[in-house]
Amino acid sequence: MMKAKSVMALLIAANVKGVQPARDATPSARPSSPHGACVALQAGTSWRVLRDMTLQIGIIGAGIGGLAAAALLAEQGHEVAVFDQFETPRPVGSGLVIQPVGLDVLDRIGAGDAARAKGNPIVRMLGHESDSGARVLDVWYDRSGTGRSCGLGIHRSALFDAVLAAAKGAGAELRSAHKALRIQNRRIIFEGQATSERFDLIIDASGAGGDLSPIKAKPLPYGAVWGTVPWPKTDLLRDQLTQSYRRADRMIGVLPCGTLPGSDVPQAAIFWSMPRDGHIAWLDQPLAAWKAEATSLWPAFAPFLETITDHDQMTMARYSHGTLRKPFGDHLAIIGDSAHKASPQLGQGANMALLDAMALSQALKFERDIPTALLHYARARRGHVWVYQAMSWAFTPQYQSDSKWLPKLRDRALFPLSQIPPVPRVLTKLVCGTLIPPLGSLMPR
Ligand SMILES: Cc1cc2nc3c(=O)[nH]c(=O)nc-3n(C[C@H](O)[C@H](O)[C@H](O)COP(=O)(O)OP(=O)(O)OC[C@H]3O[C@@H](n4cnc5c(N)ncnc54)[C@H](O)[C@@H]3O)c2cc1C
Repeated sequence: MMKAKSVMALLIAANVKGVQPARDATPSARPSSPHGACVALQAGTSWRVLRDMTLQIGIIGAGIGGLAAAALLAEQGHEVAVFDQFETPRPVGSGLVIQPVGLDVLDRIGAGDAARAKGNPIVRMLGHESDSGARVLDVWYDRSGTGRSCGLGIHRSALFDAVLAAAKGAGAELRSAHKALRIQNRRIIFEGQATSERFDLIIDASGAGGDLSPIKAKPLPYGAVWGTVPWPKTDLLRDQLTQSYRRADRMIGVLPCGTLPGSDVPQAAIFWSMPRDGHIAWLDQPLAAWKAEATSLWPAFAPFLETITDHDQMTMARYSHGTLRKPFGDHLAIIGDSAHKASPQLGQGANMALLDAMALSQALKFERDIPTALLHYARARRGHVWVYQAMSWAFTPQYQSDSKWLPKLRDRALFPLSQIPPVPRVLTKLVCGTLIPPLGSLMPR
């Protein structure tokens, strides 16, 4: 399964920080065992690090995390196959914001320029209370005034294209129409009884909708319908995520999300929150009634509704919240939404998936065996994941819940507080994804 690379590479690896050559190591030793990484490494070649071997890696899920992991690991020389259930490669959904930490990972895999070319810089997140018109959210990305740091609003299909090209360019193989049912003895069992080859490592990147992960997630009471529309003639600024709230039971938003693949028409992702079981009632309501309600709450939303002529142009998304304590198993790594689910309120899910992919690839570079690498991957991400999951848990009900007192607290106390230094700086770090080091000790070297 695993092939040794050149002796020169091994000698270089021995000098990498954290790798101590064993006294009895012999450069002539070859990890040729058919049983994979661990056995090979235990057979007297303990000074090798994993990046000096070619691991066979199977990734379940060609989403943001799975494709980023594929790009990083194929670039490291591993043989990577990505399996997805979709017949034709395509993402589902509208726009999202990639935060600066996520953009760093996209740059690392060589997808940053392609993403920026299709995306739309976001410099500020701004929210108003719909009745009073009062500002109740105002977070800038760059407080230095240099304009260097910003989020990137991007449509999922443009992001998907950029990350898929990076994964393929690095040598990863994408196998569509492979719905994974379970993992057994390091093989993936697919719908229709097909079974994969035996992998050194399997990565579960099957996202929030996948059911392979043992994660337990609590359904959140609110979701939203999302759609993509051409950016209309409007006074809203095209470098801001703008939202309007009625208490916490209604959130309306406009996210500039760049252009679609094959088009240069700027788009907006629009969303309208509702209770998770409110979709049927919304579908039963005439579009005109919804538009009238939305426009009365936020008149600036009206031009974004002009091209919506059918309920089907808006897709319902429901959210849940949960975190895996141990995002790994026997020769198995769990990354992205499979390892931690949350509402998109903080706009961090895709970034967390990208950071997981980065941490895992770094651990697989510098560790000697897969179990140790998996342990280090989990340790490196634990603090960041915990903090962001906790923040998401704390912030979401202020914007999406039936609470009467939380929105009052938000408007009268938390927002005024959020404008007093140093809180704005802390909030900037929070949205950028850098509140605490995102990769722990595994920062890229
Ligand atoms: C409405 C909405 C808005 C969001 N906005 C933002 C935002 O602004 N910023 C942000 O950072 N995040 C946002 N997120 C969260 C973000 O989309 C996710 O966190 C991110 O996509 C997770 O990436 P992933 O790779 O883990 O999973 P995904 O990107 O969901 O990919 C999972 C892949 O696995 C495949 N799959 C699933 N099950 C199987 C199976 N059994 N076999 C084979 N393949 C399978 C799926 O087809 C899919 O391609 C938003 C989410 C939603 C729903």
